[in-house]
Amino acid sequence: TTNPTPARVKDPLIPSPMHLSSRVTGLKPSATLAVANLAASLKRRGVPVLSFAAGEPDFDSPQAAKDAAAQALANNDTRYLPTAGDPASRQLVAQILTRDNHIPDLTPDHVAITTGVKMALYLTFQALFDHPAPAQEPDELLLPVPAWVSFAPMAQLAGARVVPLPTTPESDFKITPAQLKAAISPRARALVINSPSNPCGTMYSPDELGALAAVVADAAATTAPNLVVVADELYQKIVFGPHRFMSIGSIPGIAQRTLTVNGPAKAYAMTGWRLGWVSGSGDFGKAAIDAIVKLQGQTTTAVTGFSAAGMRAALTSSHDDVERMRLAFARRAQLIHRLLSDIPGLRVPRPDGAFYAFPDISHYLGKSTRAGLRLDTP
Ligand code: PMP
Repeated sequence: TTNPTPARVKDPLIPSPMHLSSRVTGLKPSATLAVANLAASLKRRGVPVLSFAAGEPDFDSPQAAKDAAAQALANNDTRYLPTAGDPASRQLVAQILTRDNHIPDLTPDHVAITTGVKMALYLTFQALFDHPAPAQEPDELLLPVPAWVSFAPMAQLAGARVVPLPTTPESDFKITPAQLKAAISPRARALVINSPSNPCGTMYSPDELGALAAVVADAAATTAPNLVVVADELYQKIVFGPHRFMSIGSIPGIAQRTLTVNGPAKAYAMTGWRLGWVSGSGDFGKAAIDAIVKLQGQTTTAVTGFSAAGMRAALTSSHDDVERMRLAFARRAQLIHRLLSDIPGLRVPRPDGAFYAFPDISHYLGKSTRAGLRLDTP
């Protein structure tokens, strides 16, 4: 009795275990990490390289944050928090956004505490964008560029089409109201405003934000009823230019269609604590936050309790630390701007905030450095 082994037929309908989703195979790895890795490999080859790749303060987290987190651990604050964040953190953030940022119609229920601003944005985009049905046009994200590396991939993962709004060094890498107006289609779902900006180091004045908000309000009332603003204000406290920081979500005409994200990572040197928040005013804000909390419940569950305790201490009592670091960033910005401006052929707007400078190096594209490093056209 022979039992011949059946011939193995490769069924194209059964995916091989090596197959991974097209969502991830199409996803670009973080460009920040790519630059960091390139710098590291050049260093290993003995090329003298100073790596400015990662956007991370070199300062230690405030002592008050570390003490409060250690105390929370000692008190066994090690269990799951409520999905939206602990009530004390939501209350504190709502109070700060109301008092300091003048954002209207906010209660603690209009705030979700998330595991970093990155997650706040990821969940926000998941809550806003629909994956297009067959033969349907996708929702659009209007993205002023150059932009922080993760906005576009995160929006694409959520099903959106990214509409880049190009800017130039001459205009400090800022979009104009006319440019925004021309870019808004009926499918426009969200506009990102990241001011002060990573990677440009520039920021909008209150008047400029007012003019952009007027375009959004007008479009929302006519051609693009679903349009909202996603304001990434992570660099709010690292400001040293002529412009006063203002939250675009404080402008009455668009407050009810703005979602604002922020967190302690940069201003308080707390990148590894993984905390952030997202807030929205009024009925829309509350509905969006409820949706984001639902998503958080199916992903990260909640933030870490002792981490949140440290954040509350920083937000309430580390103003001197923030100011000390801001002054250091301001001095460094001045220095790097001078050094970059001294290089012939580079155009670099003066940084007004964050800790970035963004030189236009197109003059050198296609040429090589003395160390033999060729700058290729992207
Ligand atoms: N938004 C911008 C503009 C950033 O620069 C960064 C960090 N580089 C993030 C969001 C992510 O911040 P977090 O560490 O809080 O996730």
